[in-house]
Amino acid sequence: MAQRPIYLDCNATTPVDQRVLAAMLPYFTEHFGNAASVNHLYGWEAEAAVQQARETLAAAIEAQPEELVFTSGATEANNLAIKGVAEAYISKGRHIITVATEHSAVLDPCRYLQALGFEVTVLSVQQDGLLALTTLEQALRSDTILVSVMAANNEIGVLQPLAAIGALCRAHQVLFHTDAAQAIGKIPLDVEAMQIDLMSLTAHKVYGPKGIGALYVRRRSPRVQLAPQLHGGGHERGLRSGTLPTPQLVGFAKAVELAIGDMPSETERVTRLRDRLWQKLNVLDGVQLNGHATQRLGGNLNISVAGIDGQALLLGLQPVVAVSSGSACSSVKTAPSHVLQALGQSDALAYASIRFGIGRFNTIAEIDRVAECAIATIRSLRQVATV
Ligand SMILES: *Cc1c(COP(=O)(O)O)cnc(C)c1O
Repeated sequence: MAQRPIYLDCNATTPVDQRVLAAMLPYFTEHFGNAASVNHLYGWEAEAAVQQARETLAAAIEAQPEELVFTSGATEANNLAIKGVAEAYISKGRHIITVATEHSAVLDPCRYLQALGFEVTVLSVQQDGLLALTTLEQALRSDTILVSVMAANNEIGVLQPLAAIGALCRAHQVLFHTDAAQAIGKIPLDVEAMQIDLMSLTAHKVYGPKGIGALYVRRRSPRVQLAPQLHGGGHERGLRSGTLPTPQLVGFAKAVELAIGDMPSETERVTRLRDRLWQKLNVLDGVQLNGHATQRLGGNLNISVAGIDGQALLLGLQPVVAVSSGSACSSVKTAPSHVLQALGQSDALAYASIRFGIGRFNTIAEIDRVAECAIATIRSLRQVATV
């Protein structure tokens, strides 16, 4: 059997860690009860597991357990946060602020609201992908109800200054939402210190299962009002109806617990691998790093390669390494990455970009093999282009 390509797409998703799977398994079969069943042992067992997961996850972001609303992932959490706040605060105002480099799961709900009569300001970023605080400050208005700025970018790994944004929003009494899908388990998150009012989380970027996430919703100073977007049995204090998936919740909590436990050493390890890959690729002419050089996720490397066809580059790499061009979520479209465009990059360079996402199970040997393959592919494509 042919060898499978080396997986370097950890910003798209990650495998479930064996320890996470082991924690989940009993909740599929033996302890399969419905956490909402209050009359028997099966229900109590499930409820106890859900409560334990809620406490672990809340502690991971310095929140209270009652402040988490479980969802199917970060897409749903973003939709609940943005549409839920818009609907609940409509008498205060109709203005929402977000950023050009956000995930489509933030931009698209904002566009949806715009069509309903809300006003949306989409802020530009600096060339390094960072949002300038003065840009945000100038955009705040008396009718602004929400600011949504992501914690870590899924394409270029850039880390936005959450604490400074939080302080600015609090001073203006505007709610602050952050999409932390790429950040949880990779950088410290503290909803108190960073003055975050709503935060979207997901399990599958941090070695947990797909299909589970959470929205943190602040309950005290200020108490955030939210209009539910799914109606039904009244689960999650009426904010998100639907039977809670106990195995996924147990896995989500285990994944986050493991990631936070190893955070300092693992960040150092993946950063070393990332820097090694960049040093090797940077010997080529016309290769540029996208996004801030240091204010970024440890495992993320995003580069653009001048003078070659991006599609040909991806095809050349495919047998050896699984990577994405632009974001995985938009790779079905042929449009260049909106994130790279927001950094002021030409369409040609944006097309010829690669995102390497290095994670827990990658080794030095794999990085060296990928670097070798990428250099050889780029050199041969350039030779073809010049003859
Ligand atoms: C992956 C991702 C999402 C979507 O999360 P799902 O749990 O897959 O819905 C949203 N925002 C960012 C920044 C992401 O990286």
